[in-house]
Parts: sequence; structure tokens; C-alpha cells
Amino acid sequence: MHEWSVAEAVIKTVMDWADGRKVKVKRVVLGVPAVSFLDSDLLKEAFDTLKRDSILEDATLVVRFKSPTFHCNSCNRDFSLDDVKDQLDRVRAEFGEDYPMHLIPALAPAFISCPYCGSHDISAKAQDITIDQLEVEGDGGPQGSG
Ligand SMILES: [Zn+2]
Repeated sequence: MHEWSVAEAVIKTVMDWADGRKVKVKRVVLGVPAVSFLDSDLLKEAFDTLKRDSILEDATLVVRFKSPTFHCNSCNRDFSLDDVKDQLDRVRAEFGEDYPMHLIPALAPAFISCPYCGSHDISAKAQDITIDQLEVEGDGGPQGSG
């Protein structure tokens, strides 16, 4: 259950950040690489269970899947799947809408080429899970001694 350890890490990170601040967390926006194969429903379920009795008690978890990005080894430029949309459309036309290339970027070099130089010598870039946005309530100012 990878989702649970991710949810736990997110809650711990937010609590460390909020340590000493008088705030209540209302919303956490999590950026998750599409290739991580994390189930967003499971992730939310884990989050909702683990957040109890913490400053995140009323917080909603929003999961945003990040589009994979690629690096061209030929011209050294980076690009995302959006940059090769027209190529993707052709792949979809051939293989159907369900073709899971967005889930398996390792497959991409076989089907798409660098939008800048046309090379197929491209590799998928590693992506991390990030907390993209925190929405809090209360005054975030530092508390005096006591
Ligand atoms: Zn290139």
C-alpha cells in the first residue's frame, strides 16, 4: 500500500511546516507524477484516515497528476507531452484513445520524436511527488515566547 506511506509523508511534511504556527490546513494540493501509478482515490482515503486529530483534520487532499516530461539527448532540450500533442494525436488515431503512453513514458521514444530537432534519442525525466499548494486558515504569524 504505497499510497499510505505517501499520505503519511505528506501529513508529516505539512505538520513540520506548520509547527509553531496557529493555522488550520484547509487544502493540500499534491503533484503526483502520472508514472507513479498511485491511485488517487486510495491516496485520499489514506489521507482522510491519517489526518484525524491533527491540524489537517479539516483539510481536503487534491491530487493533480503531472504530465511526464522528456529530455532530448540530441539537442539537450526538455519538452512535455503537451509539446508533442500532434504526434500523440497520431498515435491515438492509430492505437486508440486508451493507449497508455501517458502512463508509460518509457514507451514514448518509440512513437514520438523531439519537437525541436526530430531525434528519437529521448528519455523520460524522473519526477517527484510534490506539495504544490497549501491552503491554510488562521494567522500564520510566529508566536511569542511562552
Ligand atoms: Zn532534440
